Parts: sequence; structure tokens; C-alpha cells
Amino acid sequence: MKYELVIGLETHVELDTKSKIFCSCGGHSEAKEPNDCVCPACSGMPGMLPVMNKKVVELAVTAGLMLNCNINRYTTFDKKNYYYPDLPCAYQITQLNHPICTDGLVTLKTSMGERGIRIKQIHMEEDAGKLVHGGKYSYVDFNRTSVPLIEIVTQPDFRSAEEVVTYLNKLKSMFRSGGISECEEGAMRCDVNISVRPEGSEEFGVRTEIKNMASFEAIEKAINYEFQRHVDALEYETEELVQETRRFDDASGKTFAMRNKETEADYRYFPDANLMPIIIDDEWLEQIKANKPVAVDEKADEYRAAGISEKEIDMLLSNNKLMKLHNDVVSMGCNSKDAAAWILTDCAGILRKDGKSLNELTVTAEKLGAIIKMVDSGKINRNAGKKILIAVVEEDVDPVEYCSKLGLDRKVDESMISEVIDKVIEGNPQAVADFKSGKTKAAQALFGACMKELKGAGDPGTIKSVLDEKLNTL
Ligand code: ADP
Ligand code: ZN
Ligand code: MG
Repeated sequence: MKYELVIGLETHVELDTKSKIFCSCGGHSEAKEPNDCVCPACSGMPGMLPVMNKKVVELAVTAGLMLNCNINRYTTFDKKNYYYPDLPCAYQITQLNHPICTDGLVTLKTSMGERGIRIKQIHMEEDAGKLVHGGKYSYVDFNRTSVPLIEIVTQPDFRSAEEVVTYLNKLKSMFRSGGISECEEGAMRCDVNISVRPEGSEEFGVRTEIKNMASFEAIEKAINYEFQRHVDALEYETEELVQETRRFDDASGKTFAMRNKETEADYRYFPDANLMPIIIDDEWLEQIKANKPVAVDEKADEYRAAGISEKEIDMLLSNNKLMKLHNDVVSMGCNSKDAAAWILTDCAGILRKDGKSLNELTVTAEKLGAIIKMVDSGKINRNAGKKILIAVVEEDVDPVEYCSKLGLDRKVDESMISEVIDKVIEGNPQAVADFKSGKTKAAQALFGACMKELKGAGDPGTIKSVLDEKLNTL
């Protein structure tokens, strides 16, 4: 019999906020030493009260908008009670009854074609601390306690490991471009819920949940292993499938049972009376919408329409800083395709010569935009623009000042070009003789000499055609 894989994901993402979700301690990237981002509130001292971080709400809403969710204007927090040494309050503050976003949709393109994955909900919650086991003792580090998370829960809509990995990569690039999270190693963790059913069947099979997976590669392996285990159990009755939580062991490539699945009742959820309900009014929502970066798909379409190549689109979409630089330059009135070439080819080339990468680019949009505008308006030619760009990238000069200092914007008319060419032809009899004897390369040397004489000013196309004309009529 043929079996179908059914997967639903619960993905936790650490938000890139300056401070934690309910106190002013530094966020997840601040900590250097264990327990150096800790205060009485996030270490669970009695009587301390949580204070909501507004930025967390805004990032959660932004994520919801990107995933086409309904934004719930009334949202509340609940306590999820359990005891564990990394959870000093013995409860986690999370959202059960009124999550911030519901009913979204993401579309994926894979070898199975284009399919939609429904988002059940997105909720806000705090992370737990970390236990460090060493020798005789175990240590607890509260730096991660109360770091803000959003949890994105999908409906059981995935039908292959490929779809799962495509979805996770899509979330990652969306969240990066949205300033929601850089999603570094460990900042994006998934619980993978899997079941298997005979192909064509409407009913779901028994589900198992693989907890806390951080690597996409491991997720793929775990799904494939678990699929086969379920199929074997159904087909050959190798074991009885039960709803349970499992862990994936990277070394053996297998999953192992951890515990029976808890039900909601086990956590004794109840509303957190220490936090007021949050009301998101029209004005606030409009403000968040206005600041929302365009979704990756829309942005890619926009780049494509401007004639930017697929390779350049990938480069822009995977680097928030470059995308912003490009955007700012375009909003100064520069052509989008040109701007991409200036950044991704010219700036990259200059940096490469110094052994640097585009990540180290420090040129401002103002300066880059000024150069591109001078070129686009015909004030200077592209070579002159490139010369200015080198000085801007390497020495941070002012492009307009530098341009007039070197006289790159000198108006060069045809009569001046003609004069210079005559001078060059006169001064290089050998090259001219070579050209006449059929060495066409000699024309290039003469062209170079003209450009040098004009100090980079003048339109290269005009110079070339006038030079060719003169050489051919000699
Ligand atoms: P619980 O309350 O037990 O956590 P949820 O309804 O919140 O259950 O679902 C948790 C996750 O499990 C969701 O991502 C959902 O899509 C997924 N899920 C539910 N049923 C199945 C199933 N039969 N097979 C695979 N995934 C499932
Ligand atoms: Zn704190
Ligand atoms: Mg659940």
C-alpha cells in the first residue's frame, strides 16, 4: 500500500529586540557570560511583575502580516504551569485563549508544485533558561529566560520533507528581511508533528511529535526516519504507534520516545492577571503596516520587473543591508537595475580587490545615489563614475566635490574630442602604423590614450566612433 506523509510544524523564533519580553534586561544577543542579562523579574523573584515590551507586539504583528494572518485586536496572555529548573517562576507566560494572529497562509513552490500551507496561529511567549550539565553539577543560566519568542503553528498541511525545509527557508528569509529575527543557529527551533495515512484516506493517523529541532538537515533526516517507522508499524505491525513526544538523535539518525504527549489540562493554563489585555487599535495597526517591509515574494517580483537578474535578486534578498541600500538609492530617483549593478558588481569589485566582501560595504545611499545620478544625467560618464566610486568606497570622499576637483564633469564636446584624437594620432605614429598594417588591437591602445588625455571625461562611445572614423580615413 502507498502511504502519505502528514506534517504540522510549531516553529519558535527568537525576536531581535533590544530587551526581553517583560523586563529591561538585554535581548538574546546581548549576553556574554552566563547570567549577565538577568534581573529580579526574569529570574523569578517573588512579587516581581512583568511589563510588556511594545516592540514584541509590533514584530509579532509584522510576522502575521507577512504570513497573511488575521491580526486579533484583542490579545491576552496565559500562564502555562510546569516545574523545571530552567523555569524560575514554575510557569511560562504564553498565549492560549487569544493569540495575536490567526488563520494565515503561505504558498510554497517545490517539486510537488505550488501548494498553500495554512497558518493556524502565531502567539507571543517567553523563552526558558538553559541548563548546562558539567561533571558532578548542573548549572542554570537565566540569560535566555524571558527572551521574546513567536511561535508559528501550521495546520497539518505539509506532505513532504522538501515542503517543510522550503517553508522554513522562506520563514527565515522573510524574518530576516523584516527585521524580526536574524534566525541564527538556535534562534529558530521546530517541533515537528508527523503522522502517516494510506494514500487517498481522509482520516489522520496517530501523530508523534519530534521536539526542539534546530538544524534543517536534521529535520529532514528525522522526518524520513519517522515516516519509515510509521509505515513499518502500519504495514508490518512492527510496533503499536502511540501519540507521544520523541527526540531525534543525530549520531544514530533515529528518533526515541521521550514521554507521552501532555494534554492542555496537564499545564493548568489560566489567564495571567498580571498583564493587561493588549488592544491593537486602527492607528497602531496602520503604523505597523506602514513600517512593514515588503514581503520577499513581492520584492522579488518588483526586482524582476525592473530587469534585475535572478542571481542579483538572490543577493539582495539574502542581505538586509544591501536591500536597504538599494531601496534608498532607488527612492532617490535612481534606476533600479542600474543601482543593483553599481552595488553588486562595482562596489563588490572594489571591495574584492582589498580582500573584502560586500558585508563590509560602508558607502551611504546619499553618496552612492549622487554618483549614479551624475552618470544617469550624463554629467559624467560611467568610467568617471567608477573612479569616484573607488574614492568613495576606499576613502569616503564627497562624490560631488571629488568629481569637480578632478574635473571629471568637464563638458567635453565633439570638437574637443576631435582635437584630443588628432593629438593622440600625431603622438603615436607606431600604433597608427600598426593599425594600418592590420593590427586592430592598436586601435584600443589609441582609445586608451585618448581616455587618459581626457582624464576620464567625455562619452566613451563618441570617442570610440570618432577615433575609428579618423583611423579609417587616414
Ligand atoms: P496540541 O494542542 O496537542 O499541541 P495542536 O492542534 O495545537 O495540538 O497541533 C499541534 C501541531 O500538530 C500543529 O502544527 C498541527 O498541525 C499538528 N498536527 C495535528 N494533528 C496532526 C496529525 N494527525 N499529523 C500531523 N500533524 C498534526
Ligand atoms: Zn530581566
Ligand atoms: Mg499546540
